[in-house]
Formats: sequence, structure tokens, C-alpha cells
Amino acid sequence: MQAKDLVQLAEQFGSPLYVYDAAKIQSQYKRLTDAFSKVEKLRINYAMKALSNVAILQLLRECGSCLDAVSIQEVQLGLHAGYSPDQIFFTPNGVSLEEIEEVSAMGVQINIDNLSILEQFGTKHPNVPVCIRINPHVMAGGNANISVGHIDSKFGISVHQLPHLVRIVENTKMKIVGIHMHTGSDILDIEVFLYAAEILFDAARSFKELEFLDFGSGFKVPYKKDDIETDIEELGNKLSKRFNAFCKEYGKDLTLIFEPGKFLVSEAGYFLAKVNVVKQTTSTVFAGIDSGFNHLIRPMFYGSQHHIENISHPKGKERFYSVVGYICETDTFANNRRISEINEGDILCFKNAGAYCFSMASNYNSRYKPAEALWLNGEGHLIRAQETFEDLLKNQIPLPVETAAV
Ligand SMILES: *Cc1c(COP(=O)(O)O)cnc(C)c1O
Repeated sequence: MQAKDLVQLAEQFGSPLYVYDAAKIQSQYKRLTDAFSKVEKLRINYAMKALSNVAILQLLRECGSCLDAVSIQEVQLGLHAGYSPDQIFFTPNGVSLEEIEEVSAMGVQINIDNLSILEQFGTKHPNVPVCIRINPHVMAGGNANISVGHIDSKFGISVHQLPHLVRIVENTKMKIVGIHMHTGSDILDIEVFLYAAEILFDAARSFKELEFLDFGSGFKVPYKKDDIETDIEELGNKLSKRFNAFCKEYGKDLTLIFEPGKFLVSEAGYFLAKVNVVKQTTSTVFAGIDSGFNHLIRPMFYGSQHHIENISHPKGKERFYSVVGYICETDTFANNRRISEINEGDILCFKNAGAYCFSMASNYNSRYKPAEALWLNGEGHLIRAQETFEDLLKNQIPLPVETAAV
């Protein structure tokens, strides 16, 4: 889709607005499945926490995707979007035994990531097939917030606890059908990934009834110019060979599973916001937009860089701007960024706004969450209306009038 389409959508649906390009989601899905075409049984579980709009879930379902859910509410959303229970995996962290039992009773594959719940669940439900999440202790990427496989991580069962894990499985007679790992959101190096995969293969040898191996995600997408992107084709080539060899050794065609979020939806997303005010100070020029970290928290939360373009005047002379929000605290999207000359009323477009953007939005400052639109077959479809004042009041219980007066 083109900049003029985005400008038109901002006019049609107002700002701020999230826009998702369906064709980009479809092509990323195809790229991933093509890269692993040499694997007999491949399954993609879209990590829906990245972007959980029902229309997006429907689109990915049509691509052939299954789902990875991390809460019972995500499971319910997935079912609502038309997925059958057997198309959903439940990969939570730190949730209660009750929630896991409830999801399991719905017919959804559960993935257990600690020995305590494994023992309790296996004792009560020895006949329910279970997947286990292993922590291979592989450090992928440099940001401790998003590297979940290392030694201090709260995720997964340490691979060093394998003997205890096997004992629990033998004692409870539970059936382990899958092994899972998810080493974080930043695989820079394919060799690191392959190294972790070997650890998973090793662990897999301890279980005789496996049906699948789940390699999680961690595919990196470029956010700014010169960013490294995971070479999916090279990973597909190398891991497929290794996986097929392992299946031969294991004596069974296992299913290879990935659960990408960012890879499928990040680059498909655009966030559009209008410039309310251009403010000169002694040290910089601020462009203040009609949004804030209530709508897009990644720059403030993770220090993420989202490329910003002035799509109202893309050809203007470039100047340096600090792009900031309207939230009443420091709310910076970009510092000292070169953007073509900004006038009040211009629409700025933030790239890579598909993953962990709307899904992390809040009502801070009592602002409405923005609308979302899907660009499909050359046309914009509103897939979520902007909130209204009623949404802010919903669930609030005011005091009776007399009490409030005291
Ligand atoms: C968040 C998450 C993913 C998706 O990670 P991306 O970096 O968005 O691809 C996959 N698996 C699990 C278990 C997750 O929690």
C-alpha cells in the first residue's frame, strides 16, 4: 500500500489510526512457510498477543495459520474468530493451575513451563497430552527484557532440570507430546538458534511419544535502516535439514512448529497521528501529535525506534524534530529525527506498528484507544472503532450521590 492510501484512510477514519496491510501479513506468512517447505509437517501458531484484533485473526486463519495464546481470554478470542480448539496452543507463564485446567478442558493443547504445575496437573489429569516448555539458557540478543532463554529468565523449565522432569512424567504416567522453547524476541544469529535447537533435540530424546517440536519465535524484523533481519530462508534451509535428520533418528515424522508474532504483523502496521502543534524551544523543534504512549508505548518502554514519515508532505525539505505525544509526562517518540518539514495538521506515519502497538495500548490520561483499519484488496475496512466516553465509564461504579456529598 502507498502513502496516499494512508493519507486517505486518515481522512476517512480520523486520527489517530492504526492501519494494517493484509497483503504484507499474507506475504510474510508465505515467506515463512516457503522457507520450511522441505519439512513434511509444518505448523505456524501465530502469537496473537502481538496483535489480537479479530479481523487479523480471521485473516491469518485463512492463510492457514493456527494460534498461540498466552491467556484464557486470548483462547476465547481465538475461538470467537473461528479457530477450533485443536488449532490453538496455550503457552502461558505463571498462570494458575485452575486456568490451565479450564483451557485444557476446552480441548486446547496446553504447554506447561514449571515443574510444580507439571506435577500437579499430571497427578490430576494423567491422560491429557501435555507439551513442556524448556529453557535452553541461550542468550539471544542483547536486551535483557526480551531475551527469555537465559539463566535468570522466569520462562520455561531449565534444561538442567530434565532428570527431575522425566521423573515427574514417569511417576504421574502423563503423556508428553511436545517440547517447546522460545528464546526471546531477538535472534540476531542463526547459529545461536541452531545451537538452541540442538538442546531441544537432546531433550526430545528423553520422551518416546512426541508428536511435535515447537521452536517458538524470536525472528527479528528491521525497524530502522541497516537493522539486521533474521534470514528466514537461510534458517529454513539449515534447520529443515537438521529437523528432518532428527525425525529419522527419532523414527517418526514430527511436526515442526513456530509461533511468530512480530515477523507476521510488525511491518504490516502503520500508526497515523496528526500534528497538533509545532513548538520551537531554545534547544529543539517539537512536533506534538494527537497521541502518546497510551497508544504506542514501545519507544518509551523498550527504547524502540519506529521510523517516522510525514506523509502529508513527503517531499518537503528535511529538518530535525523531536516527535512527542500529548500525555502529561515525558512522552517521546523520537529525538532529533530528520523528517520532511512538518506543518500543524500534517499526518505522521509510524512504521512497524503492527506488533505490540495497539495490543499494548491503554486509556492513560482518560484518552480513547484508537481505531484500527485493515487495507484489503485496495480498500480500507474499519476493524475497530475508536472508543467512546461510554467505554471510559463502563465498569466504573460511582458512589451514591448522598455519600459523595459528605
Ligand atoms: C511473545 C511470544 C511469541 C512471539 O514472539 P515474537 O517476537 O513476536 O515473534 C512466541 N511465543 C511465545 C511463547 C511468546 O510469549
